[in-house]
Amino acid sequence: NIVENSKFAPATISSIDNLKKAFDALSNKEITNVLIEANSCEGGCIGGPAVPKKSRNIYVRKIRARNKIQNLKEKEYKNYSLEEKNLNNIRNFRNKQYIHPKFTEEEIRNVLEQTGKHKKSDELNCGACGYDSCRDKAISVLEGLSHSQMCMPYMRSEAEKISNIYFEYSPSIILIVDLDLNILDLNPVGAKAFNIDVAFVKNKPLSSIIPDNDFRHVLRTEENMEGRKLNLEKYGLTVYERIIYLPKNKILFGILNDITDDEFKKEQITNFKMNTLETADKVIEKQMRVAQEIAGLLGETTAETKSALLKLKKVVLEENE
Ligand code: SF4
Repeated sequence: NIVENSKFAPATISSIDNLKKAFDALSNKEITNVLIEANSCEGGCIGGPAVPKKSRNIYVRKIRARNKIQNLKEKEYKNYSLEEKNLNNIRNFRNKQYIHPKFTEEEIRNVLEQTGKHKKSDELNCGACGYDSCRDKAISVLEGLSHSQMCMPYMRSEAEKISNIYFEYSPSIILIVDLDLNILDLNPVGAKAFNIDVAFVKNKPLSSIIPDNDFRHVLRTEENMEGRKLNLEKYGLTVYERIIYLPKNKILFGILNDITDDEFKKEQITNFKMNTLETADKVIEKQMRVAQEIAGLLGETTAETKSALLKLKKVVLEENE
């Protein structure tokens, strides 16, 4: 009733585009005295992000919701107390309009520069940051409403730069192959280890440089290989091999850590241990032999002593008789 008796015409407007049009019309005084229910989401809250994705068509939802609300309203209104029915619902609103501060061209350009927008063509105006243009976004940064790095194309190119740096300077051999196991790329460490030119090896089968059995296994099982020792005798290398399967990108990513030196040291230590054991065995054997010889000699002399004493005893006994 309040709305009906008011001089303001009610209007429910949803979606950002429609609201912009309505607010433009208000600013131009093309429309006046309207009470706008402004909904950012298409169709209002019923079309908002909290609505389950698989729910019914928005118009079906709207009609059902309206019927339900109407039933509730009628039922509840009957139970209102007199005091509730006479409630004064008039509210006063104050102007909360936000006046955007003005910024100089130089200030705006400085912010644009921070995300690599040095010239007009660098401003992609893709809207991924939520602003209509790169300039609007730069102004919001100056207003303290957003962060300068919050630009999808910029963040993506930065991430690519970082991954390129990792690829270029990683101490591990990194190779990328497609699902047919053809080489797409090989980092400089790999090129050096296999003594090949990357340009020459690109699009060649992986098996032309290393055995591809493990990569085939990963393709078959669709499971990453966490780590396996692999001897690449052809290159005098022992590597610790990990393979990552990226089905969305349709590639396999091989990371080979060179453990040749570690393995050599391990082998040396094992050889040293074996030599020590062998020497210990020889010493023990020799000691045993000496002990046996000593025991033999002792046994011999004991027997001789016994025989001499018996002879002596016999002589003494014979003399006494
Ligand atoms: S995401 Fe970046 S490129 Fe796209 S409009 Fe925003 S600032 Fe411009």
